[in-house]
Amino acid sequence: MTDSITIALSKGRILEETLPLLKEAGIELVDDIKKSRKLVFPTTDPNVRILIIRATDVPTYVQYGGADLGVTGKDVLMEHGGDGLYEPLDLNISRCRLMTAGPKGQEAPQGRVRVATKFVNLARRYYAAQGRQADIIKLYGAMELAPILGLADEIVDIVDTGNTLKANGLEPRELIEHISTRLVANRASMKMKHDRLQPIIEKMGAAVARRKNAEPA
Ligand code: AMP
Repeated sequence: MTDSITIALSKGRILEETLPLLKEAGIELVDDIKKSRKLVFPTTDPNVRILIIRATDVPTYVQYGGADLGVTGKDVLMEHGGDGLYEPLDLNISRCRLMTAGPKGQEAPQGRVRVATKFVNLARRYYAAQGRQADIIKLYGAMELAPILGLADEIVDIVDTGNTLKANGLEPRELIEHISTRLVANRASMKMKHDRLQPIIEKMGAAVARRKNAEPA
């Protein structure tokens, strides 16, 4: 049915910060998501439902049309590659930086560099674009340990305050990208369901703009 819309979100910060924006677009959850083990939730709009999935799966669901819209971090989108996706809106939330980092006071090695990260595709592209040879080591968490234990020369990771790096004897080196949460849309849905999606995107965009204007200069 071209009238029904599915929106993919993930639990945690994204959910908490996106629900108020959706509310301003006229979409509110009916159930208390925190108390439920369900994965699909109805909303106050009978034609809109919300999926709760892992943040890293959001681009994939949207790419293949399992969801029309999705909300996820730019870091996740860059790692996915963005095939089949439009990125109509920067939600300007969960802002942080994607950086390389290494042991404090130590420079990155001149030749081949060993890099531990969960963002393997993104890291491969970044080092290749710089003309640097890199061996990328995939980790699923606690990247900060890798340079300390001699697993890698540096890491590619998300940095917000920098406290996590500091607490583990590391310091930031290079900025790869400024990150924030993005609204993404399935390309085919943007054509087929344009009349339904466009107002949601516009209303969410207006809600983001109102928040930006309310920020201290
Ligand atoms: P910090 O110590 O404030 O630099 O935070 C760094 C850690 O928090 C990183 O290892 C990330 O896993 C996580 N983190 C901070 N901000 C974000 C964000 N906006 N999105 C995802 N992870 C984040």
